[in-house]
Amino acid sequence: MTLLSHHRMIRFVSLAALCCASSLSARAEDATFVQGENPYYKSNKAQLDKVLAQVPNVKQAKNVILFVGDGYGVATMTAARIFEGQSRGVDGPSNKLAHESFPYSAISRTYAHDSLVTDSAPSAVAMTTGVKSNNNMLGLSGDAVWKDCEKSKGKEVTTIGEIAKSIGMSVGAVSTARITDATPAAVYAHSAHRSWENDAVLGDQAKAGCTDIANQLVTFKYGDGLDVMFGGGRQNFLPETMADPEYPDKKGLRKDGRDLTAEWLKRYSNSGAYAWNQEGFDKIDPKTVTHALALFERDNMQFEADRPKDKGGEPALADMATKAIDILSQNKEGYFLMVEGGRIDHGSHNNNAYRTLTDAVAMDKAVKAVLAKVNLDETLVIVTADHDHTLTITGYPDRDSNILGLVKERGKIALADDGKPYSIIGYGNGPGGKKDGAPRADLTNADVTDPDFVQQALVPLSSETHAGQDVAIFATGPWAHLFQGIVDENYTFLVIDYALKANERLAAHAKK
Ligand SMILES: [Zn+2]
Repeated sequence: MTLLSHHRMIRFVSLAALCCASSLSARAEDATFVQGENPYYKSNKAQLDKVLAQVPNVKQAKNVILFVGDGYGVATMTAARIFEGQSRGVDGPSNKLAHESFPYSAISRTYAHDSLVTDSAPSAVAMTTGVKSNNNMLGLSGDAVWKDCEKSKGKEVTTIGEIAKSIGMSVGAVSTARITDATPAAVYAHSAHRSWENDAVLGDQAKAGCTDIANQLVTFKYGDGLDVMFGGGRQNFLPETMADPEYPDKKGLRKDGRDLTAEWLKRYSNSGAYAWNQEGFDKIDPKTVTHALALFERDNMQFEADRPKDKGGEPALADMATKAIDILSQNKEGYFLMVEGGRIDHGSHNNNAYRTLTDAVAMDKAVKAVLAKVNLDETLVIVTADHDHTLTITGYPDRDSNILGLVKERGKIALADDGKPYSIIGYGNGPGGKKDGAPRADLTNADVTDPDFVQQALVPLSSETHAGQDVAIFATGPWAHLFQGIVDENYTFLVIDYALKANERLAAHAKK
């Protein structure tokens, strides 16, 4: 007798004892599982099968690619998923972004050493050094003092860029923000103030021996210097006497008279390249160029939504990331590459959900393009955010509602308690807030899906703030399974280090 039938027998006997003779054959009903063909069930059954078949990759990673969506919190990821699907005419909520196919993930606590809510400097430092630092500081521990060169001396922490170059790997950073901005700068720089991007801003602090971030980029002393640096921020590299190539009425910001782009070319005379527009970028030949610097704007690069209108022409984040890999992968020792979707953040600071989401989609395209290029057997790919924003998805909008639209329930515009409609995406604070008790704008006739529409916010602030919620980490490739549970943001560095055996190799290298 099988266990099951034995069990049934006992039940039958007990039922029979309880009940009357006429229902001797009756027994409790078994549930019938009827939803086996339901598409929700089926798609998640496939997901379960995938997870059951997962085998962790425990090979030493050759390469690591760290995608940082600046301000790409979970709500923004959800909105981007819906937006991306809807822009292709498919169902938004069940759409999947590239990182959603990654097998492993974790939740990341982003608080800074000195703040509940981090800015992009210590959050990037956490991921590139393994320690939490103070807001607005780069490459320094939390013992350093903001804006004080003297008091920050000796508080430097070693970055993944410095370790990787020291053990013969190649190092790159690409960003749609200035390449001297906090996130990419955390790969290579140490600065008691993230704004010390050129010598003019650094000012008197130079007397104490600190140098500006652009200078640190071109004079990077480990290995043979940084290999690929693509982004914006040209103004920090050109002297104040030199006209900008794209905006001839504007000049560089450097007061020391140096043209750092020329210095870059001089340093890498045989295999260096510098570009400031699409044409120059296209000419960079990955087969012959080992050290490439490209600065596509004086300040940040264009938002993805505005890129087609750029005067000099700018590559997409996906183009920069794939070209960076073409160059970096020439090195048999492997590479570390940071790819930053830098302006997702700026869209949200402006409460402009359209540009936030179009830049998020541009980063998703970069992830897709990179996945199509790299060998995941030897390349650890991480997709995460440095911090969240106050963006939120609200109401009970109908399933097929345009994510940029107003909340409609069962086809009818939903009204808030003030009798006015409200948009699905809103912000906790920012320029969309009303000052001096002014009433909330009536959106009944507003074109809320317009690219320039500014979403409403509760608290008025000229620039929306970051938010302190946890963010997500997604990973695939060697040792990606080390991402699990809830971790501090600086844990990401420990996984990168472990996957590459970077510190182990550094110690061995030092003994040679
Ligand atoms: Zn920001």
